[in-house]
Formats: sequence, structure tokens, C-alpha cells
Amino acid sequence: MGSWEGPHETHPDKILKSLNTDLGLLAVETGISPPAGEICGVALVRVDMRINKEFHYLIPRGLKRQVQPGARVHVPFGNRRILGTVLKIESLPLQSHGDIPPLHELKPIRDVLGDTPVITTELMRLAEWMAGYYLTPLDLVLRSVTPAVVQKRSSMREVAPRTDPELETAAAEILPSRPLPLTTQQKLACEQILAATGQPHPKPILLHGVTGSGKTEVYLQAMAHILKEGRGAIMLVPEIALTPQTIERLRSRFMDETGAARILAVLHSSLSDGERFREWQRIRKGEARLVVGARSAVFAPVQRLGLIVVDEEHEQTYKQEKAPHYHARDIAVMRGHLEGAAVTLGSATPCLESYHNARTGKYQLCRMSERIDNRRMPTVRIVDMRGEISRNPKNHVISAFLLSAIRARLDRGEQVILYLNRRGYATSLICKKCGYVAMCPHCSITLAYHLQAQKLTCHFCGCQQPAPRVCPSENCRDPAIRFSGTGTEKLEELVAALFPKARVARMDSDVMTHRHDYERTLLRFKMGKIDILLGTQMIAKGLDFPRVTLVGIINADVGLHMPDFRGGERVFQQITQVAGRAGRGDIEGEVLVQTFTPEHPAIRFARLHDFEGLYHQETLFRKELDYPPFNHLTQIECSSEKPEHAELAAARLRQSLEEKIGSSLRILGPCPAPLSRLRDKHRVHLLLRDSRNKRQKQIVREILASLPRSTDVLITANVDPLNML
Ligand code: ADP
Ligand code: ZN
Repeated sequence: MGSWEGPHETHPDKILKSLNTDLGLLAVETGISPPAGEICGVALVRVDMRINKEFHYLIPRGLKRQVQPGARVHVPFGNRRILGTVLKIESLPLQSHGDIPPLHELKPIRDVLGDTPVITTELMRLAEWMAGYYLTPLDLVLRSVTPAVVQKRSSMREVAPRTDPELETAAAEILPSRPLPLTTQQKLACEQILAATGQPHPKPILLHGVTGSGKTEVYLQAMAHILKEGRGAIMLVPEIALTPQTIERLRSRFMDETGAARILAVLHSSLSDGERFREWQRIRKGEARLVVGARSAVFAPVQRLGLIVVDEEHEQTYKQEKAPHYHARDIAVMRGHLEGAAVTLGSATPCLESYHNARTGKYQLCRMSERIDNRRMPTVRIVDMRGEISRNPKNHVISAFLLSAIRARLDRGEQVILYLNRRGYATSLICKKCGYVAMCPHCSITLAYHLQAQKLTCHFCGCQQPAPRVCPSENCRDPAIRFSGTGTEKLEELVAALFPKARVARMDSDVMTHRHDYERTLLRFKMGKIDILLGTQMIAKGLDFPRVTLVGIINADVGLHMPDFRGGERVFQQITQVAGRAGRGDIEGEVLVQTFTPEHPAIRFARLHDFEGLYHQETLFRKELDYPPFNHLTQIECSSEKPEHAELAAARLRQSLEEKIGSSLRILGPCPAPLSRLRDKHRVHLLLRDSRNKRQKQIVREILASLPRSTDVLITANVDPLNML
């Protein structure tokens, strides 16, 4: 046992000792003895450890068929046995000896998970591209590509996804639905998508269709066509829990004679391991050829992939906020390119990067400018809250204008949606006497007050503390502490007091804690058992209720003054999306937008439903500052419990980048992140431009890979960051 299986410079035992990895995967390896003469090749294996290295192993003849690129294998490592992924196969006799150690120094693969490779060849290529593009080690990427349960087990008790008995009755009412006769615009869109599916390397299509233009019907018919051809399709939705209506439409459309939709697999985050394993196997075996799911469903091992649809492509949830920080829309585009599948990105409010790509010819543009049945876009009215406050200083939550509009709609038996993108009761706790403000002990942000729970809560790290009754500051103890800033909890209280007869329901992540809470509330809303539905962005997405005729946006300015260049774009998207919930039936819809900055372009353009206008206005300033879509950014974050360590690491990093890249380097920082402390870590940012420049990228990769991992500073790269905080 003097030899071992890997590059000669480091012995695995040493690596093991120097690493603090998740040893959960390690088991003690016993009785190593290569079956002599029974070797048929050499495999390059990436082991499940945080080391940026691959190792060679012998392939025993008995495992030849199963050991393929993408297969998960058990290999000896030091005196342990761990899991790894096969990257490459070299058959015997070896063609190239270059990097491969002498055969007698190698050890054999012990075992293989499953009969077919866990990761398909196509997904393997995608993962390799991701590792390069997102400056992330391949093993970390591979963890995002395949569910953990599938990576670790070759079999398990498979469980059919559970359903909720309360919803079952409603579900039983899902009847098979037929394709609707398409409108002219829908027909054109569908034809454009199908034309793309017939080409070997189609350009992605950006489907810019206003709210209520019937985009879902277009996706359904295009996907049905792909399935009929024997191919597969993936539809990404921002958050599966928030799209029960879409799922319902898919189920009813793709039902078979047995009343089940076996061709469909629904992937969502609350699946248990057994459920996930089963759905994944159904897809892998080709039983399920249509997959709908959130972000990570873009990696579903669908065979003969013909179409990927990304619904609401502008949604931020498509970006994974931890490494490898991938964006599912961009992955979809790359996967489509690698597998020759058509890609359709749909939205009423495309993100400016996508729209820019469409205008510059990288994507094809397809427009649907009319609502179904020629319904009018809702009338958007702006309520200037500055005037409201001067007339009525106590009232800055619901203006007199909105109040009477709600009353009128309720009197007519119509439904109202009120949107406020802030949960909790109050956004901060302030002492009027001494100026004390309750801050999170771990983050540089104020704590929000939750009345029901009687807690102060940090919306970033989640920490909680009991709400004080008097000012907590030592020398004050004044009982006149005040809660300022309104959240949904307080809005609910106010609305209930103002409209005692109305049935009010609130939807935010504080009350929608169980798996089916959201669906239940929507069902009650649909059945007319709720008059006023109020909530956070949970109510802004995709809802289609014909009796909603009034939408009130309580505070359109939330997010407008954040230190983030996408603030305006986001406010426009939010207003347009929530407004899009109004007037989907026969009665015209109305939207009231309360704001303190009615002159802001995002609000002005939203009032006019003028996406083009917003695009031109925003891109003017983005061009000037050389921000996306005109340039690509990479954010590098150094974080540490000690601020000076984070600063020093960032300064050194900048210096090595300058030395290696030279004068062409365009970099901002180091500067403290806008949210300078998060979960007790001080954060310092560097912002790199031209981040798609190949040479620069290569150098950044090398520098990041060469960083010692043991220091108390964590350095992470976020390519194409969305959240600048
Ligand atoms: P979008 O996603 O573009 O906001 P939806 O796909 O939700 O729009 O469609 C809005 C409404 O119009 C839905 O209730 C849908 O059933 C209906 N609809 C879509 N296409 C048609 C059609 N061709 N004929 C009649 N109704 C349609
Ligand atoms: Zn916090």
C-alpha cells in the first residue's frame, strides 16, 4: 500500500489532514487489492472534497460498462473510501501518458452508483462550462447539477409526491383541458418557437408579452408539440409554491386516460428525498418528458431536450445566491446551445440585459402587445403621498383616494389586491427621546417588529429577540419607543379596522409557513370567500383572477432608494407585474400607485405601461456608467469577522490582479459592501468590469484558485451579480 492514486505532488493523507471537509461522505476503506489483470482502463475522477484536483483510478473489467463520464463512483482515498464523479476515460493501452501516473501506482474504482451515469454527458459538458464561467470549482458545480440524494444513493424507497387532503377535492375538479384556439399574436409566437425547435442551433427567443396576453397558452401548445415529436421539454417558473395556477394548467393539459399526468414531473423545494429521487428517476428513464420546476430544474436530466421555457425570465429567484451563483436563465440559454434545444424566455417586463440581447440580435424578439379578448390594460393612477400627508399628517398608509376606491369596489362585490413589499408590523423601532434604533446584533441593518410574534426580527439573518416595552438603552428606559415604517402585518390591522365587514386575508412568508397555505388562500380567493387580499411579492406573480378590478400599491418607493443600480428597473417590474393582476375579466381594472416620488422615471413609465421608455431611459445612464447590459461585472467579496482582515485581503487581491492583468484591468474597490456586516461577517467588495474578457477571466480564476483556503477570510466570486448589497 505504498502507492496511491493521484498527482505526485501531494499525498491524499496530507490533503485529508489539511482539509476541513465534510467528512460525512467518508467511510473507512478496507482490504485494498487491485484485481490483477482485470483492468481495462483509467478514469479521471473528481472526488467529493473541497480540493481543486482530479485523480486517476483504474477501471476494473467488471465495472467497464458502468464507468462512464458522469458516473458516480466509490474510490479509495488515503485509507478511506469516498464518492467521486468520473470526468474522463482513458482506455488501455494508454494513448497519452502525459499526466497519468504509472499504472502500478493507481488504485481501482471500488463501486459504481446505478446502472447509467448519474450525470449525463450533456450535463457534464454544461457543468464544465459553468465551472469556468462562474469561477467555481467543478465539484461545487456538480453539487448544484444533481440533487444530493441522487448523488449519494443508487436506490431508495421511492415515494410518490404527497397531496393535501383539503386540496384534493379541488384537485379532483381539475378536468382535462383542451388547447384554446390561439389569437393571431399567440399563433405567431407559437410558430416562431416551433420554427426554432426545428433548427440545429436556434437563437433564444425573448417573448415580450404584456400581462394577460396569454403567454402560458403559447408555452403549453409549443411544449405539447415537442412531446408529440417524442422529445422533452423543461419549463422554469420563479418559485413553484407561488405558481399553483400554472401547475394546475399543466396538469389538466397533459393528463392521460388514467386521469394522471405521468408525462409531467414537478420539481419543487419541499419534496422529500424519496419524492425527489423518484421524480428524478422518472425523468432519467424517460417516463417523464416534461419537467416544470424552479431554478434547479434547468438541470433535469431530460433526454432529447427540444425546448426550455423560462417563464418570468426577469425574476431574481433564478439567480442562486450561493456559489456557484448561477443564473438559471443563462444556464438555460447555454444548455439549449449545447443540446440544440430551443429556448424561450418570457416576461411582461424582461430584464434589461435580455431585452438588450434581443435588440442587438443575440436573441430573437417576439412581441405580444395585446391582452386576450382585447381587454384593456388597467388604468394606472398615481397618488402623490406628499400631498396626502400635508392634508392629513396622520395618514400615510392608505390615502383617501385609495380608501374610497376600495369602498366602491367592495360595494360592487368585486375583489381588491393590496401590495406592500415589506413584511412584519413595523420596519424599525426608534426611541423618540434618546434616538435609539434597534439594530441587528449581527448585521448592519435595523430590526423589523413583528406584532403577532412579539419579536424584533432581522430580515437578513433571521435572528430574533423579544420586543422591548421600554427603550432598551441604559440611560433612557423611556416607554415612548415608537415603531416606524409600515409592514403587511400593520396594513392588515388597518384594513380590517377600516373595512370591518370585508373578508381580508394576508399573504406573506410569515403567515404562509406550510406547504399548502398559499394554495388554500388562493383557492378561497378564487371562490370569492376573500374580498381583500393583501401581501408582499407573493401576490405579485402570475395570479389570474377575473374578479380583481382594483390593485393598490401601498408604497411604490420600497427599493427605489437602495444603493443598487437596478433599483429603478425593479420598481418598474414590480408595479407592472402587480398592476397586471387587475382587469383580467370583463370589468376594466384600475391600479392606484401611492408614492412620494411620482416624478421618478420608473413610476412614470409604469403608469404608461411603457417598457420601451423605461429601457431607453435606464440604458442612457447604464451606458454612461458602463454597467450591464453594456458590460459584464464580477463581484468579489472578502468577508471576515475582523474588518481589517477583510480589507487587507481585498487590497492584496486587487494588487495581485493589477500585477497580473496590468493597465487593462478595470476594477472598483475595495470598498465596504452597502450591507457592510452580515451574520457577523464584515464584507468588502471588489467589482471587476469586462468580466467576460477571456484572458482576464483566466487570470482571475488562477488567482482565486491559488488562494489559501485556511485563512479567516472567505473570498467568493459572484459572476454577473444581481444583488449589489
Ligand atoms: P400571461 O401569462 O401572459 O399574463 P395568461 O397566460 O395567464 O397570460 O392568460 C391570461 C388569461 O387568458 C388566462 O385566463 C387564459 O386562460 C386566457 N387565455 C389565454 N389564451 C387564450 C385564448 N387563446 N383564448 C381565450 N382565452 C385565453
Ligand atoms: Zn441580522
